[in-house]
Amino acid sequence: MAVETLVPSSADEATQLFGDGEGVTVFAGGTILMPQIAAGRLTLGRTLLLHRSGLDGVGTEGGMTRIGAMTPVSVLAERDGLLARFAGEIADLEVRAAATVGGNLCASGGHGSQRGDLGAPLIALGARVRSAGRGGERTDPVEDFLAGDRSGRLVLEIEYDEPSGAWSAQTMRRRHAHSYSVANVAICSTGDGIRVGLSGVGPTAVRARSVEQSRDADDVLKDVDPVDDAVASAEYRRKMLPVLVRRALDEVEKS
Ligand SMILES: Cc1cc2nc3c(=O)[nH]c(=O)nc-3n(C[C@H](O)[C@H](O)[C@H](O)COP(=O)(O)OP(=O)(O)OC[C@H]3O[C@@H](n4cnc5c(N)ncnc54)[C@H](O)[C@@H]3O)c2cc1C
Repeated sequence: MAVETLVPSSADEATQLFGDGEGVTVFAGGTILMPQIAAGRLTLGRTLLLHRSGLDGVGTEGGMTRIGAMTPVSVLAERDGLLARFAGEIADLEVRAAATVGGNLCASGGHGSQRGDLGAPLIALGARVRSAGRGGERTDPVEDFLAGDRSGRLVLEIEYDEPSGAWSAQTMRRRHAHSYSVANVAICSTGDGIRVGLSGVGPTAVRARSVEQSRDADDVLKDVDPVDDAVASAEYRRKMLPVLVRRALDEVEKS
């Protein structure tokens, strides 16, 4: 199949060219796609290159932060707060400069490791995802977006209200710049409770509603079934995840 490259110069043009997403490969920073192409696991046909789409940029106004899908992870890492804590842990400077937040959200479980670390803090922050595709534009809570069928969606923007309460970021990975996560836990205190996000333990990030209700760290295993991969065994993740959740709960409760 011949490669057909589409290079939109605006968000509207990107949405129009994406259409219902049928047969279109979205290419953002390429840090996941390029190795797949190089290894011969992915052949491109109709390809939507987003680098000139203007879908990048991050800003906070009136207490609400908006992040364009093409915003590099390195830009998020330079900011303050919960999301920055996780962004700064991803890969190394070079990868973070190319990797985008949209690509992180749309990443599926890799060969031998999990991806999509930013899902945990975005769930804890109560983020919403604006996307286009079949049925038009819509905005979903990030945990619903991740749990649904993402194949026909083009992520445009992510937004969340800046947290006013305490938060905690707990991440576990091997001491190597290119190592993927063993587990990530993010907790944000809200006016009437807490929000708990988990990533790095399965193919997508999930919201830990059982922990939110009980505040019992062991309940996290009701919310997620950790997987085996080259980074860690499922058994190790089952042992460590409650430890990370306990630390995060303690930190939030003491603040
Ligand atoms: C050495 C190395 C280390 C890494 N370490 C980590 C790590 O620790 N944690 C981690 O989470 N990830 C890690 N990654 C994976 C990757 O760098 C990040 O997940 C990154 O954020 C992906 O973004 P991208 O723009 O490069 O995605 P791309 O490769 O461009 O795309 C990834 C997927 O998302 C889809 N996509 C991209 N943008 C959109 C959009 N706007 N709408 C719809 N679909 C879209 C693409 O079609 C593709 O399926 C690592 C990668 C490398 C090479």
